[in-house]
This record gives sequence, structure tokens and C-alpha cells, in this order.
Amino acid sequence: MQFKSSLGAWLGGALLGILFAIPVALAIVFGILYGQASSDLEQCRQPVTSTQSTLSTSSVPSGNSGPSTAAYTSEGPAINFTLRLPASIAPIHYELTLQVFLPFDQTEESLPNTFRTVGTVEITLKPTEDDVDRITLHARTQAPSGSGKISFSPSQVQLRMGWSQLPVDRVEFQPESDVVVIFPRDRLYNGTEYILTIRDYEGVIASDTEGLYRSSSERNGRRNWLAVAKFQPHKARRMLPCFDEPSFRSSFSVTVKHNSRFTTVRSNGAGGIGRPIGDGWTETRFSTTPSMPVYLLTILVSTFGQRTVNYQQMRNSTISILGVEDMLLKHGNVTFSLQQSEKALEWMDDRFQQPYFNFMSKLDQAALPDFPAGATEDWGLVLYREANLLYEPGVTSADNKRAIAGVIAHELSHMVFGNLLTCKWWSDTWMNEGFARFLQYEILHDTNRQWGLNALVPYLSTQVAMQLDAYDTAHALYNPNVETIPQIENMFGTLSYAKGGSILRMMKGVMGSAFYGALRRYVARFRFQNVEHDDLLTVLSEEPISVGFPATNKHIDFNSHMKTWIVSNGYPVITLRRVGPGPRDITFEQKRFLLRAGNSSAHAGVDKTRTWHIPLVLSYGSSGIDSVGAPGWDYGYGADKLCWITKATGRLLSECPGEWGSYVSWPPLPPSDNSSTNFIIANPGQTGMYRVNYDRENWRRIALYLNAGPDGHRMMYEVTRGQLIDDAFNLARTGDFDISYEVVFDLMRYLPYEMQYGPFATAMDNMRYLDQMLRSTVNYGNLTEYMRNLFDLKYPEFGPINSTRWSSSVWSDDQNGYEQGSYTTLQFNNVVLDNACYYEQAECLNDATSKFKQWKLANRSLSLPYEYSTENAAYVTNFPQTRNMILCYGIRASENATEDWMFLNSMHDRETTPAARASILRALACSKEGSLLQRLLQKTLDGTVREQDSNSIFFYMTRWHLGEQLSWNFLRQNWGRLTRRSSIVADVTASFNTRQQLEEVREFRTSLGPDVAEIPAFEKAIDKILANIEWMDESVDDVVSQLKIQYKNFPIA
Ligand SMILES: [Zn+2]
Repeated sequence: MQFKSSLGAWLGGALLGILFAIPVALAIVFGILYGQASSDLEQCRQPVTSTQSTLSTSSVPSGNSGPSTAAYTSEGPAINFTLRLPASIAPIHYELTLQVFLPFDQTEESLPNTFRTVGTVEITLKPTEDDVDRITLHARTQAPSGSGKISFSPSQVQLRMGWSQLPVDRVEFQPESDVVVIFPRDRLYNGTEYILTIRDYEGVIASDTEGLYRSSSERNGRRNWLAVAKFQPHKARRMLPCFDEPSFRSSFSVTVKHNSRFTTVRSNGAGGIGRPIGDGWTETRFSTTPSMPVYLLTILVSTFGQRTVNYQQMRNSTISILGVEDMLLKHGNVTFSLQQSEKALEWMDDRFQQPYFNFMSKLDQAALPDFPAGATEDWGLVLYREANLLYEPGVTSADNKRAIAGVIAHELSHMVFGNLLTCKWWSDTWMNEGFARFLQYEILHDTNRQWGLNALVPYLSTQVAMQLDAYDTAHALYNPNVETIPQIENMFGTLSYAKGGSILRMMKGVMGSAFYGALRRYVARFRFQNVEHDDLLTVLSEEPISVGFPATNKHIDFNSHMKTWIVSNGYPVITLRRVGPGPRDITFEQKRFLLRAGNSSAHAGVDKTRTWHIPLVLSYGSSGIDSVGAPGWDYGYGADKLCWITKATGRLLSECPGEWGSYVSWPPLPPSDNSSTNFIIANPGQTGMYRVNYDRENWRRIALYLNAGPDGHRMMYEVTRGQLIDDAFNLARTGDFDISYEVVFDLMRYLPYEMQYGPFATAMDNMRYLDQMLRSTVNYGNLTEYMRNLFDLKYPEFGPINSTRWSSSVWSDDQNGYEQGSYTTLQFNNVVLDNACYYEQAECLNDATSKFKQWKLANRSLSLPYEYSTENAAYVTNFPQTRNMILCYGIRASENATEDWMFLNSMHDRETTPAARASILRALACSKEGSLLQRLLQKTLDGTVREQDSNSIFFYMTRWHLGEQLSWNFLRQNWGRLTRRSSIVADVTASFNTRQQLEEVREFRTSLGPDVAEIPAFEKAIDKILANIEWMDESVDDVVSQLKIQYKNFPIA
């Protein structure tokens, strides 16, 4: 699954907190806290690319399936209560027939049985133990109105062996745990096949975008309905009785009965031509799937259009993209998405030697107007939000384009990692998601080299993981305590993705080119099986690695080296101090990295003494361009340049005897060599997921080196520049290390010369924390003065006003497409423009407002209308790369604030592309006028903005101090009318840093009573506020005194 890109899509956690009173508090704490922390950060580094289009859920009739036929029996002995199914029965095959009562358009919404299903499932089962006396499986038989559930009575349950009916004594429904227990009269034999049938059970096509749910598109006043099933990780039980856990692999044969006007009906297997069965109904049967977990099952009932290519010209091997026909047309007939899909699939086939079409006969990918996640990897029918699959030439920004390619690569890598091999249980979710995150960058690096993504992976993933994992409330990658639904949801937070991906990247760095050889063996050995992390570590440890000269084969004991990284939360900082003149006369000390949390409960009793096995690689000063800290080759460093640091403290001289070959001569401590290149840098390329601290003299020399004239920094690899800034900022922020903000600002003095996206964006992201802390204090002027001075130097470098920096350049997408401007350059421009205008650098604001005026005067929309024609194109004025800045600062610095805001507001409904609508909402939040911001907040309630977008509004608002205050008041006043409130609490309070704000949050939380589901979100928010207050008490003076000195220390070009 691709992580949800919308804010706080963690309804699951919050809602289920209410539904299940049973889960222990800890479950809820994990479930909600980390879902949130992750979505926040995802948002920071990956701008919202997706909003949804037309379905107005408020007018959708409720999906309550009427009187339940399910009998809830409480008779008989108490059943051992557990949320995990017993392993005593293995499902082997499902025959599912589902009749779908879906209205075709709005005229049919009030027909009887609308939004219902009737299903029959036959499950072939085999006991794996002797004398099994019950069959326990999942069925969600109770749910709130509008949410998916199924109903049946004991009389609809039948069991047979061959053709002999077996009597069933009793059927027990346990709705509190979504479980049904069937007691046959006689015990079942180990190894014998039985068939369990549940006939004509009733179901619901839900309105909450979970399980089997309804969605629609609207054109010219007509609504076209569709239904689609999204199960991962635990929602199959909402559509069919099943064994809804990943380790139960079965094959599935699906038949769908549907109104014949739904012309595009799909499932995982290939579909034959539908067979008319009378009364306007059609029956479509799909070929049997490979053995897979039920969460990968899906169906789609729609009128979608389709575009298809033959994969590598192989007969009958097709890749198709499905979606609303208007959207396919308007998105260049999805040429780009088809090309990216082919490239990603070829890469996976080639790398792992398990060709996709050996197991599936087709690959469908559907773009859905409503989708609760970014995308999900259902085998043979991958589901996406429209915005994550459809690239619109001329409208989609470079960043969205890269994101679309990334989501496609992510999902197609799941065809092996997730589908062919599946984690045994969600405790090891990272075995699916960490791999997909890691591989999406590997694939993009190889298939779209011109984008230069390799150097951005540390920024996009490793640094994100380190932010999330800096609190003790973070879960370990392997979390044995996953039982409840909130705990499962929690495992799908960004941490599993980003840290999982970072750990895999670290292992690749250690193994070099041997890494993929080992992965190929891992895949071959475990295909069609379920895996846990020990399986992976064992295979990696078996792989011979050639080291030294002459080459000898060695093995690395990953089982012991990687254990702490996987089974514990957190990560280390290693402090290196040069203590003598010898080349390896360096002491080390490792310590867990924790962001401070004051006296809050989160860090009480935290184990700070834990040690990791750190794969240490050293680099040192040199004088070649881009050479300091450069990894040098694609496959990492190779084992012979690496030393495993396993102790808490020690000396490299004794801990790294060089058994892996000869070490490079690290430079001696001054004064024996005082050259400008005499410093060390550890963890080049930020390949390891750890931070590094140095002795003060080393930090000083690094800063001198970086600041040596306009080209000094260019001697250092760009990843290393960003890594040094990120490490220094965060080490200073904790207060736990001997490093002050002087080190941070000394490092950043060269920033006027920095022209690379990664390091510059890292600096700006970290400055944003200082901005959040200082913006309501008397010291804010010092920060703005520093930033304005920086951008007074930096902005004019952009050349004359209206130069290409604000250009409307569009990435071409034709076969040999020449993309105008490199991806990283466009991104770099955007960071500069956004920050320059944010700090009100005069020329930047002038440029933004004049661009905005031009656009307004032209009165043209940002995206093409659905009915595309070449004449229509003339009515569109777009500036895909700089749209966010032009609209936001055009509104913010406007002389006609109200009029311009109203104009933009009216444009929102005219736009047909989700990304354009998101840009407009984001810009509306940039206003300085309180009354206009209030109107924007009202849009979260009045139905003019879709629910998922309305949560983004809170996030956009809190970029600004006034917006933050208004949002907090609005949240308190309208608490009962808002949904997904946990994420709003997190967003709105993120910058709170005064004792008064702390009291307000505490008081409000208390006023809601002890049982409110958002309590964990409040606890987390309070921890953060406490940390911010402590930072204000202890660090603000240090920062302010540095700002006062450093604002005038920038080099003058
Ligand atoms: Zn995924």
C-alpha cells in the first residue's frame, strides 16, 4: 500500500477506538499517535498531490443494511477470546459469487436493495491438527451506518465433506472481534478437505471508502456510480466471511453479477466476456488467482474507460489503465503512466527473475475518484487515487509527475514483495512496505536517471525516518505487540515505510553488489510463502561477499548486527573524537537519539543505554570536486571499508583492526597536519540510519571547508552537505550533546552559494522549526532579518524579474520526452521562491503578485475542462511548477485582498484536476485577513470541500501564526461537527510552545471527558508542547544570539 497522502487519514484508528472498548489503552496510543506523526511528516516532504473529485458523501443515502438476520448468541461456554484466528484450519480455495445492487445513476438511488450485495462463498478448508472442533473465521456483522458489514443466520451455514453434508451444532457470532465460530457436530480430521458454504449472505456497499464501497463521477449533472473493494489490511471481512489474516493463503475464483450497463467489471483474475442472465443482469466470471492472502482480493464494478499496451510485445500479456473516460482522455490517454508501469515491471522481472506474467495473465491499474489510501497493490488489479496514477501534460507539476512514477514503482514492487512473498503477520509490515519504499527509489533511479533521485533518498526517506523515530512512542520495525485493529493500522504509518526502506538501504550499502544476489535467492526460496524478518536476515548472512585483495569470501552475520535496528525503536548517534596523532586514533561513543520531551510521560523510564551495531564508514577531507563523502559507486562501499561498532564506547584503533581489509589512512589529529582538508566525516552518503557528532575542532574545520569561497561546498558531496546540516540541527535541538547552534549557523553560512535542492531544502525544513518556535515572540524579527538577508543574496541570482524561475515550463511526456529543466533544479527553484516570499523578500513578492494579476486578468482556469478540444487549450493558463507560490503569495500580498480571495475561491469549483484544486485551497489559506480565513474554515463544514480535502485545510492554515490561532478556536467551537479530529489536533497544536497554550489544550481535553477517542492524540500533542516549551526555556537564547551575529555573516557574492 502506498501511504495515505492526505492528512490524518487515520479514521480507522480513531473510529475503532470507539467501536472496540476492549483494546487496551496502549493499543490506542500506538494506533493513533504514530499514524499521525507519520502523516504530518509525509505532508512536510511530499506536498499533497491528491484530492478527490466528485462524490459528495453528504447526499449519499446510508448504507445500513436493514434488519440483521445474524443471531448473536451468548449461550454456551465462553470462547477463548482472541483477535487472532487459530492456525488449526487452513483455507485453500474460495468460490465467491457476489451480486451487486449498484444504482447506475442518481435516478436509481432510491430503488429497493440499492447499495446492497448478496453473496455466496464456498471455502475449501483443511484442518492442520487432529480433532478440530470448531471453524473460526472473520465476518464483520455489526458496524455503524454507512460502514461495510455482512449478515447471515446460522441456517445459512453449511459444511460438507465431498458431497456429504455434515451437521453443524451451533454458530456463534462475536461482533466485538469480527469473528464467527462454527461448531460442527463431529470433530474434523487432520488433512481432510471440507467445504464450508455460507449462502445468500447480505452485505452493504459502504459509503466510508472502506471494504466494498461506492464512489462516483459526475459530468453535466449526471452521477455515474461505481463500486470497488479495498481490503488491506483487515477489511475483507466486510465483504465476505473469510480468514482475514495475511498468513492464510488461498486461491480465489470470483463471479460478479451486475447490471449489464456496467461495462467495465474487473477482479484480480482475467475476466471472460460477461454472460447475460436476464432482466438486464450480467454474470462475469474471473479466472482463479494464484495463492494469496485475502487482503489482496478486489472487485471493480464500473463504466470506466481503458487504455492497454502489450507488455514487451508478449502475446496476451497486457498492462491496462482504467479510469473515468473523461479523465483518461484529459490525461493524455495515460501514456506516461503506461510507460512507467512497463519500465517498473521490466525492472522487477529482470532484477528478481520472477516474471509477473508467470503468475498473472494481465495487469490492470485503476484510477479511482475516491480512494482511502494513495494506492494499494491488489494482485492483478492495482488501485490508485486518480491523482497518483494520472499525469496530465501541461497541468501536473514536475513533483507530482515524479510522485506518480514513484507510486507506480512502489505498487509494482509489491507484486513480488507483498504478494509473491507476504509478511507472516502485521508485526513485520515493514517486510512489505519497507521493501516497496526502498525499491521505488531503486527503480526510479535506474529507469529515470535524468531525475537525479539517488541523491535525494536520504532527504526524502532517511531523514524522515529519523524524525519519526526520535520519540520513545515510536514503534519498532518489528512489533510483536500487534493484535488489535488500531495496532495494525499503526504498522501502516510512515515509520514502517521510511525506516524499513532506510534499513534496507543500509544493508545494501554494507553488502555492495552481493545484496541483489542474496535478495534473488530470498525471493526464490520463499515465493508463495509468508516470511518474517529472520528469514531475510538468514539469507543475507548466507551470501558470500568478496572482500580484500586477493579477494576472499566472507559472510556477514546480519542476524546479530541487524537485530537492534529491527526489534527496538530508536537509532544511535555516534560521537567521534580524534584524540591522538595516529590515523585511527579516534574514540567513539554511541548514544540513543531522542528529541527532548521535557518532563512529559513519553520519555519516563526510557532506555538510553541501548547500543546498536553501527556499520561505520569514514571519509575525510580532500580537494576534488564532489569528493568528500561521495559514495563513489551505486552499490555502496563494500564490506572492506566498513567497521562494525558494537560497543557503547571505545577506540577505533582497537575496535577496527582491519579484518575486512586495509583501512584508508584517516588523517591524524592536528597539529601534525593542519591542512584545510584535515577532518573526518562519517557515514558518507548517509547510507546508515544514524547521526554523527564530532569533536568541536572537527566541526570547525568542516565549516571552514564548506565556507571556502563560492566553490568550497562543491568539494563536498551534496548528500553530505544536507546530512551535516540535518545532524547538526537535530543534535543542537535535543540539548543532549555538546553542540550549540553556533555550529549549525557556521555550517550554513555558505547557503547563498548552495544550488542543490537536497541540502538547501534540508536547511529550510530545519529553519521552519525555529520559525514555528519564534514566530509569536519578540525575537521573530531576528529570524526574519536573517532569512531576508539570505534571500536578498539568493533571490537576485535568479536573474531578471520574470526570468525562467517563474516560468510555465512543462515537462514533456512524449516517447523521447525532453523535460525542460531538471527535476532537482525545478524543486530547488521552488524552495527558494517559497521561502523568499514567505519571508517577504521584496522582489519575490513583487514577482508573485504580478504573475497572479496576469493570471486573474486572463480569467483562465488552471486545468483543462473534461470535454477536451484544441480550442479549449487556449482557455487554460497554467504554470505547473510555480502554481503554489504564485497563487499563495498573490493572495497574501494582494492590494485587493478580499476581491482576489473571492475570485480564487470561485475558481476552486471550476477546476477539473485534483492537484489544481489542492493548490487553490492551499493558497486560500495564505490570506492575512482573519475574516477570509474564517470563511475558509467554514468550508470544512459546509460540504463545498470534500472531507479528505477539508483536513488539509487545517494543515495549510497552520503554516501561519494567525491561521494556527483561528484553527485552534474553530476546532474547539466545532468539535462535534468535524471528522478525523486526531490529525487536526496534531496539526493545529504542533507549534504550541507556551504554558498558556499547554493549559488551553489540557483544559479542552478535560472538557471532552475521559472516554473521547482522541485522548491519545491530545497526549501526544501535550508531549510535543512540553518539548517545545523546554526548547524555548533552554535553547531560545542560544538561537537568538546566533541570529543576531550570523545574519550579517553571509558571504557577499
Ligand atoms: Zn505499499
